Amino acid sequence: MKTVVVLGGAYAGARAVQILSKGLPEGWRIILVDRNTHINHVYVFPRLAVLPGHEHKGFVPFDKLLTPTRDRDLCLHALVRSVHSSYVVLDRSFPDRGILTSELHFDYLIYALGSRLPAPLDLWGSHPQSGNTLKDAEVLKPYTGTKQDGIAWLKAHQEVIKNSESILVVGGGALGIQFATDIYAIHPGKDITLLHSRHRLLPRFDEKMHTEILDTLIACNIQVILGERLDTRSVLEGRTKFNGRGQRVIKTLQGREVAADLILLCTGQKPNTHFLSEMDPRCVNPHDGLAHVLRTMQLGTLPTSHSTYSSECTTPATEEVETTPYPNIFVVGDAADAFGAIPAGHTAYYQGEVAARNILRLIRRSGLSQNKEENSTEEEPLEDYMPGLPAIKISLGLTKSAYQANGVVRTSDDGVPDLNAAAIWAYFGYEVEKDEDMYA
Ligand SMILES: Cc1cc2nc3c(=O)[nH]c(=O)nc-3n(C[C@H](O)[C@H](O)[C@H](O)COP(=O)(O)OP(=O)(O)OC[C@H]3O[C@@H](n4cnc5c(N)ncnc54)[C@H](O)[C@@H]3O)c2cc1C
Repeated sequence: MKTVVVLGGAYAGARAVQILSKGLPEGWRIILVDRNTHINHVYVFPRLAVLPGHEHKGFVPFDKLLTPTRDRDLCLHALVRSVHSSYVVLDRSFPDRGILTSELHFDYLIYALGSRLPAPLDLWGSHPQSGNTLKDAEVLKPYTGTKQDGIAWLKAHQEVIKNSESILVVGGGALGIQFATDIYAIHPGKDITLLHSRHRLLPRFDEKMHTEILDTLIACNIQVILGERLDTRSVLEGRTKFNGRGQRVIKTLQGREVAADLILLCTGQKPNTHFLSEMDPRCVNPHDGLAHVLRTMQLGTLPTSHSTYSSECTTPATEEVETTPYPNIFVVGDAADAFGAIPAGHTAYYQGEVAARNILRLIRRSGLSQNKEENSTEEEPLEDYMPGLPAIKISLGLTKSAYQANGVVRTSDDGVPDLNAAAIWAYFGYEVEKDEDMYA
């Protein structure tokens, strides 16, 4: 039995599994590994972490990704511990499912471990209380990646927000903007500040996005501080300063002090590529932590001058076809340096498709080369990934949103409380007819 292992089953990994599941020939199986029991639909997490009642909609079961007739395929709930050129190590074995040791050997690997979320949404890494001065919220048991744990985490977060009179959101990316505007919409009496290190919000998008969002923030009485960077020393454990009202006081590098009951650090999303750099440090750009990939989404090694490698330069300077010592490993989604593609669910999804289709091509090729008669037919080329134009839709409170697609910026005012979470369930194979279906 030959094996394609897919690490991470969210936007990139899930799509790859869907394609493989339909196209893999006899004698091949898919093993999907994820630390979560459900796909975490993180787009809606900022809303679900503030607005009660919809938490269950952010966790989509994996079970519709695999084709039921392919009974050798497996979905394993496990933590990845390390990655090697022909096997991965998990934190456990599954003897009842035929996986007798924690080592999982593969013929092809799709690495789709995404990125680590900033603290206020990092279900795996931080307590909802982090950044808070209030000490009376429920203490959660260790997080295990179940839907139940995720719902409890989001509910605890909602309580922390509800009980904080003043909130400082650090980081004016999509997450910070959504948090600030949702908190205003759901708890209008709170004193909210948004601190952003640059002068422009969402600088990778059209300036009209910045203007529209800034106007909305100001209309919501959110205090916006642009062009000032948080002095990270002022939020370090043990160095926290409090004012006479018991609020935490942080400093900017420019010397400004801002006090708040709750600080939401919406910065520092980091690609989960440490397993790759441990396997081979040449594969990961030390400047941004992204894995170097070929256009085919196969893992590559950085051009030899990588000590002076610039994060702007994602392709080798020469026109030569790049080769790789890891033709059987593909990296997709937030973990990959994908030729200027923005880190987004929709780009991850298409990269997952390209990787899966290329694996199917490679398998067909190896089948052909075993069959000498057919060997004379031309080799099917692998597909290159081409990123599209940057696109984004960002909610600005419960109904308003701003979006940019194909270079055009628009706003709309037809938003719904759960951000239409059911739509993503359909992408993952679940047809939702009523809200209760999303308790699955
Ligand atoms: C608040 C927010 C809103 C967003 N809104 C949008 C939007 O509207 N549109 C859009 O296109 N993009 C949006 N994005 C970006 C998008 O969510 C990411 O780009 C996308 O999640 C990347 O997908 P991925 O599959 O590469 O990785 P992830 O979604 O990060 O998935 C990685 C998977 O790997 C698993 N994993 C990680 N480490 C391990 C381990 N050690 N062992 C086992 N499993 C592991 C995780 O459990 C997870 O299932 C948003 C992001 C955030 C934070």
